[in-house]
Order: sequence, then structure tokens, then C-alpha cells
Amino acid sequence: MTDCLFCKIVAREVPADIVHETDRTVAFKDINPTAPVHVLVVPREHVEDAAAITPEHADDLAALVVAAREVAEAEGVGGPDRGYRLVFNVGPDASNSVPHLHLHVIGGRAMTWPPG
Ligand code: 5GP
Ligand code: ZN
Repeated sequence: MTDCLFCKIVAREVPADIVHETDRTVAFKDINPTAPVHVLVVPREHVEDAAAITPEHADDLAALVVAAREVAEAEGVGGPDRGYRLVFNVGPDASNSVPHLHLHVIGGRAMTWPPG
């Protein structure tokens, strides 16, 4: 995708605070964090959103979740004593604003349920 913000971050055409990378994923700090830890993990390959995931995306999807755990551990919220929330927003009711699949890793404070 030529005009996708997160594709541009993956390609290093737009700056971001990148904290983790694998052959399939890039993770960077959210520009408007909602918690002390707020990192977005994205696939290098453009995928529109979680609703566009098919079985062909299985490897990317597993890589996103593994990367999220590694990010959480590196940020000090992994392990049995802390915790974090993983979120895919899909569509306007969930306020999805960037059309490139991204897994939010949110932690560092106690969170309520249900979310707002
Ligand atoms: P969504 O609401 O689509 O699930 O989440 C998009 C997230 O991307 C938001 O939390 C927003 O703060 C973040 N974001 C939007 N633009 C940028 C940007 O240019 N750089 C970074 N690092 N985060 C961004
Ligand atoms: Zn993209």
C-alpha cells in the first residue's frame, strides 16, 4: 500500500519509536498513549483490519501475538504478577482509525471491564 501510514512506518518513511521487530512484525509506541505501556504491533504486510484476516494470515497473526508478549515482557508488564490488554479495533463503532491491522498492547495500570 503506497498511502498507508503504518506501511510507511514499517518502511521507515515516517518516524516512530520502534521497540521490537521480527521478520513479520514491527512494534512501535502509540503516539497518543492510553496507559503507561501502549505499543502497536503491526504486520509488515498490509492487512486492512482483523475482519480481513483469513487462514492465509495465520503465520502473521501468530507472529503478532508472540511479538505482543515479547513487547509486554520487555516493557515490564508480562509474567504472572502484572498483565496487559491486547486489542484489535474493527470498524467505526470500535473507533478504528488507521486501516492497517494493528494489535494494541496496553498495560502498566489496572484496567476496567467492560471497556468504554
Ligand atoms: P485504532 O483506533 O485504529 O485502533 O488505533 C490507531 C492508533 O494509532 C491510535 O491509538 C493512535 O494514537 C495511533 N496513531 C495514529 N497515528 C499515529 C502515528 O503517526 N504514529 C504512532 N506511533 N501512532 C499513531
Ligand atoms: Zn499498510
